[in-house]
Amino acid sequence: MTAPIRENLSGLDLRAEIERLRKERNAVILAHYYQKPEIQDLADFVGDSLELSRKAAETDADVIAFCGVKFMAETAKILSPEKIVVLPDMDAGCSLEDSCPPEQFKRFREAHPDHIALTYINCSAAVKALSDVIVTSSSAETIISQIPESQKIIFGPDRHLGGYLNRKFGREMLLWPGVCIVHEAFSETELLKLKAQHPGAPVAAHPECPPHIVDHADYVGSTSGILQFAKNFPGDTLIVATEPHIIHQMELALPEKNFIGAPGADGNCNCNICPYMALNTMEKLYLALRDLQPRIEMDEELRLAARKSLDRMLDMASGTVGKGDLGRA
Ligand code: SF4
Repeated sequence: MTAPIRENLSGLDLRAEIERLRKERNAVILAHYYQKPEIQDLADFVGDSLELSRKAAETDADVIAFCGVKFMAETAKILSPEKIVVLPDMDAGCSLEDSCPPEQFKRFREAHPDHIALTYINCSAAVKALSDVIVTSSSAETIISQIPESQKIIFGPDRHLGGYLNRKFGREMLLWPGVCIVHEAFSETELLKLKAQHPGAPVAAHPECPPHIVDHADYVGSTSGILQFAKNFPGDTLIVATEPHIIHQMELALPEKNFIGAPGADGNCNCNICPYMALNTMEKLYLALRDLQPRIEMDEELRLAARKSLDRMLDMASGTVGKGDLGRA
């Protein structure tokens, strides 16, 4: 369980205090699209996990306050070892990361020595270090298309993203059985009811959704891709099958359009809100900037090993690695 805040912060103007500390600490504040609007609104950058870490690495900030989940803050540390990286709540985890303990992943790899490991970025630094290439939901398709069909692949930890890629590319990647509890919660029945209420409204879905949701989507892509689709689709209503806090950015960009979050099982539950992301609050962000805790610490050997598989992704995504270059790292 997350530790309760023991101080009484009720008299503080948190926005002003965060602003003061941001300057005093020379800090950059990052907010993932799944954060509460009040946090998104004060962040220096709002985006998806890798994009945020890369932007922060390009700044001369001394401190990164990452309003997201732990694997994202770890990625920021991997790319910016000289910076202090704080996460407002260290219990902000991820069901995909939890599904894939490094020891089990290592044994699985050892049981399949002729497979390379293509691993979704939603995993711990230790699992990244055990992988050959990291992918994001934005880069996965570009990267898979560069891997020879004869090359056997383990894909983890998201079986839905892996299954989507298998279907799209006719691959038979071996899938680690993890799921995102948020995208898993969308209900096909409720989605079909919503579509009937809004005839003609397209559905944009994240590939972490199970096939019975993705099959109804007009667009399937990463959070950044979904946001781009929202900015360009010609209609006036869009059904969004990913964590609904991303709708805040859509409403800011296109206030005249109507964005509806896809429903969970009873049509009205909050089960499509990520409970890990929701642990970050303004109070905890203030305390993290004030105390420079909780802080991401990482062994340098682990960081360099994890960095290798991330760099492989960046090289492949930018087209600087040829098909023949991809072997076991
Ligand atoms: S939305 Fe899903 S994948 Fe993203 S952090 Fe939450 S549990 Fe993990």
